[in-house]
Amino acid sequence: MVDFCPECGSLLRKRTKDGTKYLVCKCGFEEELELDKKELEKKIQKKKEDLEKNLIIVNQEDKISVHPTVNRICPKCGHDKAEAWQEQTRSADEPSTSFFRCLKCKHTWREY
Ligand SMILES: [Zn+2]
Ligand SMILES: [Zn+2]
Repeated sequence: MVDFCPECGSLLRKRTKDGTKYLVCKCGFEEELELDKKELEKKIQKKKEDLEKNLIIVNQEDKISVHPTVNRICPKCGHDKAEAWQEQTRSADEPSTSFFRCLKCKHTWREY
């Protein structure tokens, strides 16, 4: 463990930031102290939890992005159920375009 700054030779001070211990110097030198095992495990556990949280969020977004099913007759195969969603095509002052995708043949068409 370094007690004196390798840059300027001043005495280093201990500081804790986000649960991590650092040796810091007034010149700006900073050294992360080795974490003890318990703290390290806690940190890894937290990272895992963050990762799992992110995965859950992604899954939720997937669910939201599933388009609602509406009664629309497919111009290609005549099936009467289609997914529907809207998209802003060009500028914001133009009305958005409705898109439909046949649930049977996957044919996609749009209506203005
Ligand atoms: Zn220093
Ligand atoms: Zn169809």
